[in-house]
Amino acid sequence: MGHFLIIGAGIGGLTAAYALLRLGYTVRVYEAAPELREIGAGVVLGANAMRALDTLGLHEAVHARGFVVDSIGLLDAHGRPLNVVDTRPFTRRLGFDNLAIHRAELQQALLAALPPDTVQLGKRLASFEQTAEQVTIRFDDGTAATGDALVAADGIRSRVRLQLLPNTQPRYAGYTCWRGIMDATGLPLVPGRTTETWGRHGRFGVVPLANGRAYWFACINSSTPRNPEFQRYTLADLQRHFGHFHAPVPQVLAHTPPGQLLWGDILDLRPLPRFHFGRVLLLGDAAHATTPNMGQGAGMAVEDAAILARCLQEFPHDWPAAFARFTKQRRPRTTRIVEQSWQLGKVAQLTNAPLVSLRDWVMRHLPRRINEQQMAFLYEGE
Ligand SMILES: Cc1cc2nc3c(=O)[nH]c(=O)nc-3n(C[C@H](O)[C@H](O)[C@H](O)COP(=O)(O)OP(=O)(O)OC[C@H]3O[C@@H](n4cnc5c(N)ncnc54)[C@H](O)[C@@H]3O)c2cc1C
Repeated sequence: MGHFLIIGAGIGGLTAAYALLRLGYTVRVYEAAPELREIGAGVVLGANAMRALDTLGLHEAVHARGFVVDSIGLLDAHGRPLNVVDTRPFTRRLGFDNLAIHRAELQQALLAALPPDTVQLGKRLASFEQTAEQVTIRFDDGTAATGDALVAADGIRSRVRLQLLPNTQPRYAGYTCWRGIMDATGLPLVPGRTTETWGRHGRFGVVPLANGRAYWFACINSSTPRNPEFQRYTLADLQRHFGHFHAPVPQVLAHTPPGQLLWGDILDLRPLPRFHFGRVLLLGDAAHATTPNMGQGAGMAVEDAAILARCLQEFPHDWPAAFARFTKQRRPRTTRIVEQSWQLGKVAQLTNAPLVSLRDWVMRHLPRRINEQQMAFLYEGE
């Protein structure tokens, strides 16, 4: 039927591989890393992502390893609610949960669904070229491979995208982020309730995971990316920064093993005009990386895979046409998420005291209708 080359074995690449194999194509995924070892942090898959996984036949495999999220609480530094949303009525109506999952377990679930040898490790793409009939990819190790089409799922710094569109470097959001996983046994976390606390000098999120663990993230403004001061930050520094936040934030930090601390700047991509380039398609973060404020980056990658399958069912032998249809369908939704998430991040990271008070007042008085409209947009998906 046709042979697909996929670059990148992240959430997007693995899900797309499964979707394409199911349609009867042959697929090979090339991954730069020498081993598949997802970073030790969690991710929340919205009901939209769970629905997309369901259309692909991957829902049960993923759901079994996750932990259902049934409420999303936005709090102030004292732990007072600013906006708490019970997502259950909504997700029950949709028939799909919001799910918190350890990244390594999500990756394992996706990988286990693929035939062995689908993913080739230690293959870093250097460049590609395409003709009217085929695509050839070249690796750093001097080898090459050829296929009918190329799906670039190689993340925010995608080499494929930078070859096509050299001026699409990631944009720095102005804040930097730490993440960790810890054993939450004995801590007063409400099962199924994720919280995000907005202070004046940073915010802190806690997400209960399966098996008594929890995932947390902490964001602080930094005028420059790769700030050496923050690069050196330890759990003790974070404790100084967030120690005055309500319980259990200081306890969550205190329970985190030092080796579990991850750090990175928050980046996204300015929306691209298109994701299709003849026989080449950008997918996931390579196409539309977003700041994590709406918890939708991985969800968008999973939705991409499901929509790609739908486009290929429409044009099974005309890859450029299928890819063009993909852009048409995915660009409006992903652009809206990237832009809203960018704005939300600016609001969440405010430091000016009067503006913070105003923000908190607005969040406290947000009409239910707005929350419901936002849930409908995020979770009903395409
Ligand atoms: C702090 C933070 C929190 C987040 N929280 C959430 C959340 O709660 N919910 C959510 O939905 N999303 C969240 N996200 C976003 C989510 O992590 C990403 O959107 C998602 O991982 C993107 O998947 P991907 O497969 O497109 O890209 P990636 O996961 O980046 O995978 C790309 C893969 O390509 C490989 N690669 C790169 N270059 C090459 C090359 N040249 N050759 C071969 N292989 C290559 C990489 O090694 C990697 O394995 C968060 C992101 C951050 C930073």
